[in-house]
Amino acid sequence: MQHLDGNVLAGPASELFPSEPTTTRGQCLSCSDIATLAQAMVYGAPMGYVVRCRGCDGVLVVITEHDGQTTVNMHSLRLLSEL
Ligand SMILES: [Zn+2]
Repeated sequence: MQHLDGNVLAGPASELFPSEPTTTRGQCLSCSDIATLAQAMVYGAPMGYVVRCRGCDGVLVVITEHDGQTTVNMHSLRLLSEL
């Protein structure tokens, strides 16, 4: 399945982060890779996004949108800071 880059999260995640979500750095709790969300692999789904680590393909975040509400499940991501 073809993935998108993390820049696709700029819109749906903009309400969840204090500033630009794609430049927010995070660390994968599985492999310790540190990258911006823009560098993550994103798979779109009809109701949201699955964000996977570029290093180990582990699921970092699942963002779902339903009835106008956005839910974020931080599976394996530690947010660090903005660039
Ligand atoms: Zn990883």
